[in-house]
Amino acid sequence: MMRAMPELPEVETVCRGLAPHIEGRRIDQVTLNRADLRFPFPDNFAALLTGARIERFQRRAKYLLAHMHSSDGKPFIWLSHLGMTGRFMLSLPQHKQVEPGAYAHEIAAPVAAKHIHVEMRFDDGGRLSFADPRRFGFMDLVVDAPKTSQDTSQDTINAADRSPYLAHLGPEPLGNDFNETMLLAAAKGKKTPVKNFLLDQRVVAGLGNIYVCEALFMAGISPRRKAANLGAKRTARLVPAIREVLARAIEAGGSTLRDFAREDGSAGYFQHDFKVYGRDGETCSAPHCSATLKRLVQSGRSSFYCPRCQT
Ligand SMILES: [Zn+2]
Repeated sequence: MMRAMPELPEVETVCRGLAPHIEGRRIDQVTLNRADLRFPFPDNFAALLTGARIERFQRRAKYLLAHMHSSDGKPFIWLSHLGMTGRFMLSLPQHKQVEPGAYAHEIAAPVAAKHIHVEMRFDDGGRLSFADPRRFGFMDLVVDAPKTSQDTSQDTINAADRSPYLAHLGPEPLGNDFNETMLLAAAKGKKTPVKNFLLDQRVVAGLGNIYVCEALFMAGISPRRKAANLGAKRTARLVPAIREVLARAIEAGGSTLRDFAREDGSAGYFQHDFKVYGRDGETCSAPHCSATLKRLVQSGRSSFYCPRCQT
């Protein structure tokens, strides 16, 4: 299986796995075992998180956002990105020590202590650790974001002004703001291939290489086609295809958490039945098609496609 970054479904699965256990919890202790991951931790990282309470844990694109209140009542967001090999490990209060794994003891793969970079203890005795052997992951704080209401999704939108990571992100592909009208408008006049167009986070947030390849196959669209030439019919196939490949992967995630972390501590992939991704040289799985799947490189990234089914 090819190595790649965790994509939206994997991050969503991590979010859903952690949220029920950490929402409502106060962080009593934060230990940073190093000063940086991919980027340095903010100076006040441990100080602000200590004594703060997690109100809501959400995903935006491939970011995990913990909406929090500091010990003196100020709202802020703790932002995490898993990078390539980052993972959270949760030990519930009834367990005495952190056991290697992703969350709630779903994963038993060991991780070397030197790869555990952040450790937290909650008010209920639970512990959360972040391990990342390759350290492409990172964490940040979004402070001074205007707080509007109980509606944390609105807060995330407001917080975009305060975070370089959240600014300029397009709509969530599974949300209502992502639709045919919006996509057609965004594609207008764009000479870039549709493959690259869909990887542009300003167009749609959180889509990555694997699921763009799969969605283009499902929609019967060549990765080479210019975005401007998508047209209404193809766009009408593309939007539901994107939603479906992501929704299926998220659904599969719940039952295959075990696959997310490998024994070497790297992020694994859900054992999806990818139709084209990583399958160049194999026969197309579409009914009545016996073409050989191909690979091409676009902007330095591999695209996998069926030259007969995708036009
Ligand atoms: Zn085919």
